[in-house]
Amino acid sequence: MHLVDMHCHLDLMANGPAVAAQAATVGLGILNAGVTPDAFRAARAAYANAPTARCAAGLHPWWIDDGRCGAADVDLLVEELARTPFVGEVGLDFAARHRASAPAQTEAFERIAKACADHPLPKRLLTIHAVHAASTVLDILERYDLTRSAACIIHWFSGTSDELARARRLGCLFSVNEFMLATRRGREYARQIPTDRLLFETDLPSHDGPGSAAELMASLERTLATVAALKRTEPFTLANEVCAHSCELLDLHGATPEPTPTETAAPSTNEAV
Ligand SMILES: [Zn+2]
Repeated sequence: MHLVDMHCHLDLMANGPAVAAQAATVGLGILNAGVTPDAFRAARAAYANAPTARCAAGLHPWWIDDGRCGAADVDLLVEELARTPFVGEVGLDFAARHRASAPAQTEAFERIAKACADHPLPKRLLTIHAVHAASTVLDILERYDLTRSAACIIHWFSGTSDELARARRLGCLFSVNEFMLATRRGREYARQIPTDRLLFETDLPSHDGPGSAAELMASLERTLATVAALKRTEPFTLANEVCAHSCELLDLHGATPEPTPTETAAPSTNEAV
């Protein structure tokens, strides 16, 4: 594995299964963050044979906010979490345009956190959305002591410095993408986050239509280059450390990239020459 995208949305791409197949050939690992329990169930079937893709069961706060999902979806997800270790995208978004649904979002996230606490599973991991809501997210993680029983990854952290310090003290991990690195504050946070708490992600797609593994890889490589420069470290060393941690979290160590068509087609007679 060369790089791992710890938060992307294959389900929202027009050609997710093709992207997952491409990813396996280029040594790209992917955590597909589901936005609804139904999307997770479909993804689990669609990516069952993709050796480097893993699927998380989630319920995105925007889907609660606009009414596309409700209590029945929370029930479905809670039921799923008794047997599914990877969770996300879940969390809270209290930005002005989503704030009206803050009570419903909080109730859902609290039930999801409780389900994780009630069903501790090996390799439990959460990829968490926290916009203008980092303190409330951390309150809930702390209430259920989730950072002890699970890898709690705050994706695209955008809270305050105090909230970052609290999240670090609680033991959270942070997945960083190039949109976060476009701001001075995001770059400063990425510089401060210790490498053993740092992961890379794309949060793509950001456009309609087909995506590609090359696009994900290019975004991850830009993130790697920027973070390596901020930390004044070698990109190769940083990539190895972050990738090893990601593979451990996603249980990707046994997932070897499939041979490329060129390798497959290489005539064995070459060895005899
Ligand atoms: Zn996302």
